[in-house]
Amino acid sequence: MATLAANPTPASAAENAFGPSNPFYLPSPLPFQAPPFDQIKDSDYQPAIEAGMAQQGEEVRAIADNPDAPTFENTIVGMEKSGQLLTRVMQVFNGVTGANLSPELQKVQEIEAPKLAAHQDAIFLDAKLFQRVSTIYHQRESLKLDPEALRLVEWYYEEFVRAGANLSDAGKAELRKLNEEDSTLSTAFVKKLLAATKDGAYHTTDKNALAGLSETRLQGAAQAAKDRKLEGYVILLQNTTQQPDLGSLSVRSTRQTIFGKSWNRAEHGGENDTRQTIARLAQVRAEKAKLLGFPNYAAWRLQNQMAKTPESAIKFMDNLVPGATVKAIAEGKDIQKLIDSQKGGFELQPWDWEFYSDQVRKAKYDFDESQIKPYFELNNVLENGVFYAANQLYGITFKERKDIPVYQPDVRVFEVFDADGKPLALWYCDYFKRDNKNGGAWMDVFVNESKLLNQLPVVFNVANFAKPAPGQPALLSFRDVTTMFHEFGHALHGMFANTVYPSISGTATARDFVEFPSQFNEHWATYPAVFEHYAKHYQTGVPMPAELAVKLKKAEKFNQGYSLTEILAAAELDMQWHTLPASASLQNPDQFEVAALKKKNLALHTVPPRYRSSYFAHIWGGPGYAAGYYAYLWSEMLDDAAYQSFEDHGGMTRTNGDRFRQMILSRGNTEDLGKMYAAWLGREPTIEPMLKERGLLPDDSVK
Ligand SMILES: [Zn+2]
Repeated sequence: MATLAANPTPASAAENAFGPSNPFYLPSPLPFQAPPFDQIKDSDYQPAIEAGMAQQGEEVRAIADNPDAPTFENTIVGMEKSGQLLTRVMQVFNGVTGANLSPELQKVQEIEAPKLAAHQDAIFLDAKLFQRVSTIYHQRESLKLDPEALRLVEWYYEEFVRAGANLSDAGKAELRKLNEEDSTLSTAFVKKLLAATKDGAYHTTDKNALAGLSETRLQGAAQAAKDRKLEGYVILLQNTTQQPDLGSLSVRSTRQTIFGKSWNRAEHGGENDTRQTIARLAQVRAEKAKLLGFPNYAAWRLQNQMAKTPESAIKFMDNLVPGATVKAIAEGKDIQKLIDSQKGGFELQPWDWEFYSDQVRKAKYDFDESQIKPYFELNNVLENGVFYAANQLYGITFKERKDIPVYQPDVRVFEVFDADGKPLALWYCDYFKRDNKNGGAWMDVFVNESKLLNQLPVVFNVANFAKPAPGQPALLSFRDVTTMFHEFGHALHGMFANTVYPSISGTATARDFVEFPSQFNEHWATYPAVFEHYAKHYQTGVPMPAELAVKLKKAEKFNQGYSLTEILAAAELDMQWHTLPASASLQNPDQFEVAALKKKNLALHTVPPRYRSSYFAHIWGGPGYAAGYYAYLWSEMLDDAAYQSFEDHGGMTRTNGDRFRQMILSRGNTEDLGKMYAAWLGREPTIEPMLKERGLLPDDSVK
């Protein structure tokens, strides 16, 4: 254990001193080392973060300066044990700032974020430390390490090399310059896009132009106008190409105008035009890859992913194109028929798609959300759906713990017990929307599982479901139900973690793998034995009528040709931008985009990419999904193939569940992920189950 005694001098007298009275000073005495939220004040975080960085700095310095020859124990294990205070406080800090932000914590976040980034850089660009890691790495075959330890050595070495540790001093200086330009350009892109999206809003004083919008949406648009001190109505742009209101706006010229505003938002010339920024950004990334010894940025980024190379990701996507586009074209023909039957007298355009496909959907699977929701009461879905499925598959049980403190009164805590009754994990859920919570839904941990550190997992799920009035039940949409299963799938990946080293435990895997356990868990939401067990009317307990359940499930497969094609177009664009070599000239984004889509047979006039290059924030707004947008589809291939395999082997059984847990969910990143997956499945995954699931196989019909 690293000592926790370090108590650095405060940077200024005004700063809170860090000492034993700080609740992060020692590991929490609560069960599972659960965060002592009843003790933690907003003012406790910053001094603990500062002290945590100082402490890890000293620990890492001691490892690097150790006069003894480097060993797995004195270097790699030493690194794994370092920074426990920092980890302890940051996991809670990240959890709370994401789900329950206060102005004070926001300030701490702004001050500490650059310091934390510099702290990380200082470790991974430390030449003496890298020398030790490198020595161990090159001796690894002769060290008689167990497979997990061997994987950890490789993981550390690759992390250092990816950060540029192998470069000469001149190379490191060059890399720092490129990193800086990359980050400056990304920041500029985000700023321009934000302004461009704001400017792209549609404004009208003519209520007739907005025919088709619901009364609630009209009120929203009127409020948006008021917020901008304008008369009439304003419709704000969403980040995707298609805009949600296009599904209901019946005036065609309004749809066309809004679509045009979306499509061209960042291409008007002037200071909010992003095209020069992204063209240079692509170049900078290619130069960076070259410096690090790779033919292009995607090759550098994908080394530690399951796909490993851009070629394998591209081959995967190329194989999906025919199924997706054939279906999209057929869907377009259906829509054209509808337009003609209504004597529209025009040819389908992208701004018409949502409007008419919504009518086709209604005609085929008409149901009202208000018919569905009484069958999805939150607590019932949780206990008789989500928990029930996990119990059937893995034998685990749940008990609510009202004695564990929480950061907000809506948060609930459950202790999770293994099939043999032993404590397994603590699980928190924070389901209701709040103004100080980030949008969307996610999973993370307060405490990481690690046998080395003697820690059991403390995992949490957050979502943004509408909070009912006091005393009323929380009735969910089916999308919310799916979200619950999804996030709980991530939670299982965290709770079943059974590894020694924290850096490769639980969900600490790859971008193209991490959504696999969560998407896989979504399948149980519609699995008959589970669905029947939870989809019951909250007042009468009567199961959902079979006819309604069938419609609900079929509606899921509607419009999948369009939906897959628009994602594929964006993913292929991302990959082509990031496989440009450093020698390529500065691109003209519009020409590049047209050529890229044409080359991939994705230049469907009526199905534009989900994001155009000039507003593709996933890939330009930061390194997050650069050369990584394919990962959404890749994980989908994995989860659909996995579910198919369960079905082929008897469906929801303990035997299937336990094998999946043992070979996948418990193993984090302790083995090459492709090998881990293939060993479990018994072969490489294929795209057929995914096409089947989306209703895109040639003989599929969703009538
Ligand atoms: Zn997810």
